[in-house]
Amino acid sequence: MRRSLIAAVLLLVLLLSRPVGAAPGSARFVAPDRVVQGEPFLVELLLPFEPDRAELRWLGRSQPLRAEPLADGLWRLRALAGTTASHPAGKEIVAFRVEADGRTWSFPWQIEIGAKAFPESRLTVPEKMVVPPDEVRSRIEAEGRRVAQALARSQEEILWALPLHRPVKGIVTCPYGWRRVYNGKPRSPHSGVDLRAAVGTPVGAVAAGVVVLAEEHYFAGNVVYVDHGGGVLSAYGHLSRIDVGPGQPVKAGQTVGLAGATGRVTGPHLHLGLFLQGRHADAVPLFEADEKALLEGREGLEVSLR
Ligand SMILES: [Zn+2]
Repeated sequence: MRRSLIAAVLLLVLLLSRPVGAAPGSARFVAPDRVVQGEPFLVELLLPFEPDRAELRWLGRSQPLRAEPLADGLWRLRALAGTTASHPAGKEIVAFRVEADGRTWSFPWQIEIGAKAFPESRLTVPEKMVVPPDEVRSRIEAEGRRVAQALARSQEEILWALPLHRPVKGIVTCPYGWRRVYNGKPRSPHSGVDLRAAVGTPVGAVAAGVVVLAEEHYFAGNVVYVDHGGGVLSAYGHLSRIDVGPGQPVKAGQTVGLAGATGRVTGPHLHLGLFLQGRHADAVPLFEADEKALLEGREGLEVSLR
């Protein structure tokens, strides 16, 4: 009798001590159904438990993410993603992947990428501005590799916040995605946005982050790359002066350098690059929209966890 009571108590203790983290419940996934080429978008997953590991999968890239606790006991995963201006129109899948207590869940969502008509800008410039001389080719390639390395990694803790800080007050002089034709030869679409800025204008980081590159490049001149976490990075090109170094944390709006006309430019301006999950995207929509606005009107999907 006593033995069976002990067994019953032990069983009860065992049942109660089972990890309850991955207990069935439901998750909520909110994402857009449709965006256009180059348009940044926000995806969000609310979980009833804290995941041991989480990541976002988008266009063949996996980005580790750290969940953030909400006041009501839920945990939130959020990510910014986007496509480049030249990404083919069609359907793509964005997915969160979550691990907890040895179990794995995948949350896929289909997004339609709509075509956007980007204007064309035709410019006649000195030929040496279009075709770099042979002696700098290996330098350009080495710089490209360093940038690719910097963009391949992003820390899992999210430091960015919306709306993004506008790095300088100046107007947009060349929008993102414009198809530039120099001396009759088409070049790749504009990978960032050019903002008017006189030489010496302080350039503020679009969000908090950590500097990952601060150096002089052939095309971008003095350039600073900042990792804002969760697959979001920004770049500031053609600076006349760099005020930060690799590994240095920066706050939103903190000066990373002064605007200038270094590298391949026709005049002083700030070239701002925004990279989401390894792809460049248009930063301008994120100067205005906060997270609520980006998720507004999205119905979301309730997914039961089994
Ligand atoms: Zn530019």
